[in-house]
Amino acid sequence: MTGREGEALTRVLGARSAGPLAKLDLVTVGDLLRHYPRRYGDPGTLTDMDRLALGEHVTVMARVARATVRTMRSRAGAMLQAVVTDGRHELALTFFAKRAGALRPHEDKLRPGRVGLFTGVVSEYRGTRQLTHPDYVLVGVDADDAEEAMFEASRPIPIYPASSSVPSWRIQRAVRTVLDPLTEGDVEDPVPPEVRARHGLPSRLDALRAIHHPVDQDAWQRARHRFRFEEAFVLQAALAQRRAHAAEQEATARPLRGPGEPSLLADFDEALPFTLTDGQRSVGEDLAHELAQARPMQRLLQGEVGSGKTVVALRAMLQVVDAGGQAALLAPTEVLAAQHARTLRALLGPLAEGGLLGGAAHGTRVALLTGSLGAAARKEALLQAAGGEAGIVVGTHALLGDQVQFADLGLVVVDEQHRFGVEQRDALRAKGRVAPHVLVMTATPIPRTVAMTVFGDLETSSLTQVPAGRAGITSHVVPAGNPRWMERTWSRVREEVDKGHRAYVVCPRIHPDEDLPAGGGAAAKDFDDVPDLLELMDGDAAGASDRPPLRAVLEVADMLRETPALAGLDVGVLHGQMTPADKESAMARFAAGDLQVLVSTTVIEVGVDVPEATVMVVFDADRFGLSQLHQLRGRVGRGSAPGLCLLVSTAQPGTPAATRVEALAETTDGFRLATLDLELRSEGDVLGAAQSGRSSSLRLLRVVQDADLIADARREATALVDADLELGSHPELRAAIEAQLDDEQEEFLERA
Ligand code: ADP
Ligand code: MG
Repeated sequence: MTGREGEALTRVLGARSAGPLAKLDLVTVGDLLRHYPRRYGDPGTLTDMDRLALGEHVTVMARVARATVRTMRSRAGAMLQAVVTDGRHELALTFFAKRAGALRPHEDKLRPGRVGLFTGVVSEYRGTRQLTHPDYVLVGVDADDAEEAMFEASRPIPIYPASSSVPSWRIQRAVRTVLDPLTEGDVEDPVPPEVRARHGLPSRLDALRAIHHPVDQDAWQRARHRFRFEEAFVLQAALAQRRAHAAEQEATARPLRGPGEPSLLADFDEALPFTLTDGQRSVGEDLAHELAQARPMQRLLQGEVGSGKTVVALRAMLQVVDAGGQAALLAPTEVLAAQHARTLRALLGPLAEGGLLGGAAHGTRVALLTGSLGAAARKEALLQAAGGEAGIVVGTHALLGDQVQFADLGLVVVDEQHRFGVEQRDALRAKGRVAPHVLVMTATPIPRTVAMTVFGDLETSSLTQVPAGRAGITSHVVPAGNPRWMERTWSRVREEVDKGHRAYVVCPRIHPDEDLPAGGGAAAKDFDDVPDLLELMDGDAAGASDRPPLRAVLEVADMLRETPALAGLDVGVLHGQMTPADKESAMARFAAGDLQVLVSTTVIEVGVDVPEATVMVVFDADRFGLSQLHQLRGRVGRGSAPGLCLLVSTAQPGTPAATRVEALAETTDGFRLATLDLELRSEGDVLGAAQSGRSSSLRLLRVVQDADLIADARREATALVDADLELGSHPELRAAIEAQLDDEQEEFLERA
């Protein structure tokens, strides 16, 4: 590395200044330079000194009258007090430091007689107006003349992510100390000049100056744009390399059996009680083709809730088993893993009873491997995986454990991707002797740019159709405060139950007297019933304080047992604090119709399949993420009777929260909802939920709003990597990718 960004701040700034910065994880010059301002303060126009209002951000032109450094008696440290004047009024300037020496630079500059511009927030101390740690520009020191001083003082003021021990102004000083002496040769630019030219982007050094010390708003905006591009570009180059390397990796080809040969897949298709949708068939053909290659398949399958992804995945798994390999299916929770194992066994019937009496002669076995298995069951499952008797092994991330060996792992299927990142995919991939094929499935539709950012190493397929014969679902918003609407809600539930149907009632919390959302307590070991609650949005904050507390399962179940419209019905509960046996029994009784109303947390979000359930009431719907609500309501209307979803909302009309729930009621387009949902969230949230390792390298990039920029960066990066896979002629880009991978690796290790 030729640039100076790798240099330690202790060397450049000295241990005393660098020490506090290390608390913000700013250790190298590069760390500090990438610590971008969160926003910019308005320097404001010149203020008359006889109009200094308390609490106001002001800029005054004045002359230094005197300046003195004192050590403080009351607390450790030193203080510099200066007084500036316009000839008629006086204003105090105060600077604090741990040691008198740290105030020396100010003392040197603030000499009596010097004129300058002073900017800060007006406070009062013992009847005197003062500015604490003001920014200032001195004529003849920081600026040649008054005009230049005015110009300097009119610049936007960078405001940094800071902490109480390291305030923003201190970071600003450190940045300037580091940045000011740098020249083009000191800064490595991962974006090559020709790419910059094509997109009208400033050099990295120019952009650093503009983002940390902008002339005006336009300057920092252009700089931000450039860094967003850089982030997208480096990421896309890394992903392009990953794709290219993966394509060079060897995999075992798992071709389809020929006609007449014994085949689990053929037998399964034969026994299938329904016909595949066109989408299932065509995605199936793509998968069959890719599995037959000696290159690892890397595919993301997105499909609406209920679009039939499981069958598609199972058919791919059977092709691999037919060809002598094994398949692993990863689910995000133990409950889902267990349900998957049950579903697969049920779908396979005798085909999953290989080696058992009555099983198909060429049948295989489905093994379930989760963290909570008893020792004996675990040993049995491990043996089946290692010996190859189990063609299909289902589990949670426990499958990533070192103890789990496969005889010949040919395919990894990851269900509900959002809780598995690239590293986890890599870890599993490393389990095969050669790279296994990988299929990642998601029911949360992912906008194109998110897919490009987070899953840029995967090709994408979609299932857009839902199998025929589904009656669909209607949704309505119910204002919680309206007793007539609430009454009507329960009588609708009653009507459905009287037709032989069943109802879900969903609440965000378990106990009314616990403050935490469901699953938020220490007891939560699974993701099962963690509601995806939105933080209050800016616009929602109004009226937030007089919002009623979130509804709780236990309280609502008691309330429903007393509700006249539901008299005589059996109301059950389901939540994450119940024992597995109690959960099973509640689900079984609901499925059998012994319970007609099930009050539950979001534990039912994924995968629960009771075709008789036709109505769902969601309390505090305005507080849930849209995607999660969409998943939730996918639990009803799965049979031939139409589904009804009643979204009980406490949102005031006209607030963003109200708009959100209305959007949900109006559309069943999961793709649109996912996009809307993402727009409401921070990037950290999006990427954190989708793929944790990426957040550190993306500081400014916004995966939803920056769609076009990401597409541009992807095109440029892919072209570059195609022409020069190892980036031999782009050492700066290569270094940036390596630095990013190091970060990811570190985070992965920290989490492991
Ligand atoms: P998801 O995509 O949400 O995982 P599933 O694979 O669980 O959906 O499928 C939902 C339900 O639809 C299951 O009960 C499944 O057996 C059924 N199913 C899948 N494909 C079809 C089809 N082509 N025709 C009818 N029902 C189907
Ligand atoms: Mg599924």
